[in-house]
Amino acid sequence: MNVQGRPTSPMPNTGPAPRTFTSNRALQIEEGLIFEHGRVDVTGVDLDEPEPFTPRLGNLAREDAIGLPGLSEPEAMRHYVRLSQKNYSIDAGLYPLGSCTMKHNPRINEAMARLPGFADIHPLQPVSTVQGALELIDELARWLMELTGTHAVAMSPKAGAHGELCGMMAIRAAIEARGEAATRNVVLVPDSAHGTNPATAALIGFAVRSVRASADGTVSVDAVRAALAPDVAAIMLTNPNTCGLFERDIVEIAAAVHDAGAYFYCDGANFNALMGKARPGDLGVDAMHINLHKTFSTPHGGGGPGAGPVVLSERLAPFAPAPFVSRDGDGFRLVEGGREQSFGRLTAFHGQMGMFTRALSFMLSHGFDGLRQASEDAVLNANYLRAALSNVFSSPFGDRPCMHEVLFDDKWLEGTGVTTLDVAKAMIDEGYHPMTMYFPLVVHGAMLIEPTESESKVSLDLFIATMREISIRIRRGDTERFHGAPHFAPRNRLDETRAARHPILRWTPRQPVAMPAGE
Ligand SMILES: *Cc1c(COP(=O)(O)O)cnc(C)c1O
Repeated sequence: MNVQGRPTSPMPNTGPAPRTFTSNRALQIEEGLIFEHGRVDVTGVDLDEPEPFTPRLGNLAREDAIGLPGLSEPEAMRHYVRLSQKNYSIDAGLYPLGSCTMKHNPRINEAMARLPGFADIHPLQPVSTVQGALELIDELARWLMELTGTHAVAMSPKAGAHGELCGMMAIRAAIEARGEAATRNVVLVPDSAHGTNPATAALIGFAVRSVRASADGTVSVDAVRAALAPDVAAIMLTNPNTCGLFERDIVEIAAAVHDAGAYFYCDGANFNALMGKARPGDLGVDAMHINLHKTFSTPHGGGGPGAGPVVLSERLAPFAPAPFVSRDGDGFRLVEGGREQSFGRLTAFHGQMGMFTRALSFMLSHGFDGLRQASEDAVLNANYLRAALSNVFSSPFGDRPCMHEVLFDDKWLEGTGVTTLDVAKAMIDEGYHPMTMYFPLVVHGAMLIEPTESESKVSLDLFIATMREISIRIRRGDTERFHGAPHFAPRNRLDETRAARHPILRWTPRQPVAMPAGE
């Protein structure tokens, strides 16, 4: 059975898989490092012998062999194609990694991003030759401000965490402008937050004060009020939060934070559940990053660079970083500096052009109603999984509807000898990328599942059937099988602790393969 097909026969009994001579497993080919292929004493291309020359490197000249790989074209081809086949990707199957929003990247986005006028430009080109690209950045910026109800947007941050840095630097600049830098140096962060939030605050010199989430998984306005004090510069709150729940007190929290003279940073990585439904600016947010690679569907993770534009409220707009695009008569120009209160530059250039193009293509091809429907479908899909799995898995916060992702804990595994990690490994055998596990930390043995709007009902039903079957096998006491999973992957259970504690960081050449003795 695989994720494309339907189960046709009962699962085979799997003992340890027999070893093969090549170590390959069916058509999954073992792949060595590039240095382990071909020969190091030849090259794969014909190069003329260099003309006689006198080396001018003195005693820096290399005396031993350089050891570069010498692959022929087919060898090089196979090496990289095999490596590319080791990636599991959203294009290969369902990728329910909670909080990461692994949704389909429509191919029209790719076609647009590859147009030479966007793909082949250089950030130092004369502005008169890139008017279309600047117009695209300006158009995307307007959509982002429109969808979030905010006054300004910094386009240059290159990922969500980088956006957090940008927003918090704007907040710090605003506090410095008020002459309160010495006294306001604490940032409130709920204990359910993504790890990047406290890391960002600490990186730019704030002390982090933790706010406990309530028993229902959200942050209460009372908990925030109790933590607010004259030393608080800002709160960093995620909505929907990392438990997949909408923070119901958000408007009151924003008011309390503002009354205390602090700013409200919203981690907007999960904006894909809100776009077209609610505008963060209306909820009192001062700064929020938007992960274009999540909400507006551009490749991310190991698959490509992200982009994390930051929208800003009217109060923070003057502190936005340079550069930004400005309309100038019929054209556009880049404002590189000169605004007195701007905190300066965040990156060398203007942001990720390819991601901007893909995100705007996603917006324009969906239209406003389509974006709203994408949010609704993402939430519907997560709740479909929640409803279908809640009688086999345990939910930490009761039967409450979720937003774009559904969170289970490991209570249902109590007494079975099977852990969340074992479940994740068993999913690999079934052809699924595991869900996010052990995050958020406020839930024991967390399993965070985000199907996204791009999965069909057929695909969700097969996933549900698989997860139910896994739960039945666990209850039946098939424990050993779970401890050994994954059984079908090229590598079985890894010793993750040893890998972390005793990493082998130096490559040593392998022994040559011994040919089998003649019969
Ligand atoms: C993904 C995510 C981030 C970080 O975004 P990156 O683009 O990976 O840096 C921050 N907060 C939350 C809640 C996220 O889901």
